[in-house]
Amino acid sequence: MGVALTGPESRPPLVFDTREIKRGSLLEVDRLVPAPADLGVALATFPEGSDLTLNLTFEFVVDGILVRGTVEGTVHAECARCLDPVTWREQVELTELFLFPPQREGEELSEDDLVLEGDLLDLEPTVRDAVVLQLPLAPVCREDCPGLCSACGARLAEDPEHSHDEVDPRWAALTALIEDEQD
Ligand SMILES: [Zn+2]
Ligand SMILES: [Zn+2]
Repeated sequence: MGVALTGPESRPPLVFDTREIKRGSLLEVDRLVPAPADLGVALATFPEGSDLTLNLTFEFVVDGILVRGTVEGTVHAECARCLDPVTWREQVELTELFLFPPQREGEELSEDDLVLEGDLLDLEPTVRDAVVLQLPLAPVCREDCPGLCSACGARLAEDPEHSHDEVDPRWAALTALIEDEQD
């Protein structure tokens, strides 16, 4: 009564209707959803609108609804050393308990508790937190990527012999002094 029934299409893709979950049972959710905007870290993200595969269970437990499972998608990143684009599949695990609102006055909740409001459960902040914790802050295209020459920006992977032979004249003078003192 008085509840506006909204179809799944009209809800954001990471918001779930808890009325679909029956007390004492599990709801399994296996579905593809579009990634929300800004899902990731500076150099590595799941692009907005790209496919995320959800494999989740929603379990009706004593205190609330326990959500567990994985979110998988393709990360688009930039190598922190040579700036080449890199992509890979990444699977992120989640576990989060969404508490039912307190039944009695004065029931204690800590600041970190997630409390359900109404019938809808918004999983997006949980997914966001798990992704940010897992994605690398400095992704590399390969473990031994030599990066770029700090003097001229040349790609060292393509030019392993690359060097700048001319030594800074101030260093040359210093080196000569040190050699003199050692004599
Ligand atoms: Zn690289
Ligand atoms: Zn160089």
